[in-house]
Amino acid sequence: MSDATTWRDLAAAIPSSHGMWGRGAWAEAAGGHTLALHDPWTDSDFTTVPAAASDDVDRVVADAGATFAAGSWSRVSPAERGRVLIAWAGLIEVHADELAVLVSREMGKPVRDARDIEVASTAKTLRWYGELADKLMDSSPRGLPDALALVTREPVGVVAAITPWNFPLSLAMLKIAPALMAGNSVVLKPALQTSASSLRLAELSREAGLPDGVLSVVTGRGSTVGTALARHSAVSCLTFTGSTEVGLGLLADSAASNGKTVSLELGGKSPNIVFADAPDLEKAIDTAVWAFTFNSGQMCTAGTRLYVERAVYDDVLAGICDRVARLTVGDPLDPATDLGPLSSRSQCATVLEYIDSGLRAGARLAAGSADALDPDRSTVAPAVFTDVRADMQIVREEIFGPVVAVAPFDDEAQALSMANETDFGLAASVWTSDVSRIHRMSRGIEAGNVWVNSYEEGVPSTPFGGRKLSGNGADKGVYALDKYTHLKHTWIALGRNHA
Ligand code: NAP
Repeated sequence: MSDATTWRDLAAAIPSSHGMWGRGAWAEAAGGHTLALHDPWTDSDFTTVPAAASDDVDRVVADAGATFAAGSWSRVSPAERGRVLIAWAGLIEVHADELAVLVSREMGKPVRDARDIEVASTAKTLRWYGELADKLMDSSPRGLPDALALVTREPVGVVAAITPWNFPLSLAMLKIAPALMAGNSVVLKPALQTSASSLRLAELSREAGLPDGVLSVVTGRGSTVGTALARHSAVSCLTFTGSTEVGLGLLADSAASNGKTVSLELGGKSPNIVFADAPDLEKAIDTAVWAFTFNSGQMCTAGTRLYVERAVYDDVLAGICDRVARLTVGDPLDPATDLGPLSSRSQCATVLEYIDSGLRAGARLAAGSADALDPDRSTVAPAVFTDVRADMQIVREEIFGPVVAVAPFDDEAQALSMANETDFGLAASVWTSDVSRIHRMSRGIEAGNVWVNSYEEGVPSTPFGGRKLSGNGADKGVYALDKYTHLKHTWIALGRNHA
């Protein structure tokens, strides 16, 4: 599968309506209402999904709880759970083109990235947890002559996952895979805009052997479905990736219901810091461009604050502008496209408003424009701002578009202070050859992820999480399992042998 025509044929084959996924079958919303999904590139609706209401959520959560209690998944052997997850990962790979086209139509991601990065990483995550399933150990503290202490982990029951549209499959899988691996039942509420790909993902789980009722997908608006899940007293854990504003509200929903665990992966405004002694300045420049343009900048970890040591500032800025001019912004189904449209007209309007605010505040555009390339297609050219100040909106707030603010610094202390001058704490990158500086910067940066001489790297076993307004806890690796399991201490008094 490689040319645009073949991708378009696959896009045309997307069903014009979808059901919700529950009990291993399709279902309509009880009220019979539907919502349209909109393709930002063609500016047209292409399918519908059920508009669930709170009574639909009640039904799905009750089913998930009943399935958990029945033990068809929660009490099977970890090895069997692993086998099913690995089989599901294989099916995702088999259906990679189809899933990639769905994502591409839903939110405009270039189909090449959707297949080779997003779908590939979804399968990789799932396979990793499948392989881990039967390799975890419980523990027993030593040195207790008259007792046996057991420390075990148990699934929490019903896990609700609420996920965003920017990486709809891979981010959902960061939650689904460890939660299922631990034996829970999962109710996924995907972003409305990207529901269709999540539904197809769930359907494939049945083919892999996941028992009915263990994974459900409820479609509808966040304000209805998401809120109902967050306030549901039969949900034990709510795992969320999305905006800081919505995430903070979920903590209040938990407090107002059953005090469920709430895990938050939120927004970011990540600094990318280039020192003059970067081991490979050309690589640093290439990567800096990627860091704010990949997925059209709609990435929580986007490197949107680029701080460059003054000695190489002019060279780096020229390199960035030169590379940005060579990027192709266009049809996401064309494999040659680098940046697709922004995910929606409203997202496009938000990004352009931010660019305008930067200009009004006195920043200078070294590349890009405050006008859309094509407003009907929600396309925006990557924007490079210079002459920025820390108090500007474009430096403080998450834009979620291909916009970077570039500023010089004079020494390490200033770079660190600029990096931490943010309410967010998701990620950062540092480019330098100085090993001591690497450690000083890594220790000093207030963020959950620090990449050195690289950006957005990791493997399934490394944790991913933020601090400050970027969230709490962590996805990925064994670290994700804390929220999906209850820790239990069992103390067994052995009694004395008086014989
Ligand atoms: P969003 O508006 O917060 O939506 C995220 C999810 O929450 C969607 O499923 C949404 O449903 C739902 N939702 C909306 N309002 C809700 C409510 N009142 N109660 C419960 N759920 C509700 O975020 P987004 O625009 O989709 O995604 C972009 C944001 O996600 C950015 O801030 C980005 O930084 C962040 N993000 C963070 C990470 C990370 O790992 N830290 C990764 C990716 C993205 P609807 O679609 O129906 O509105």
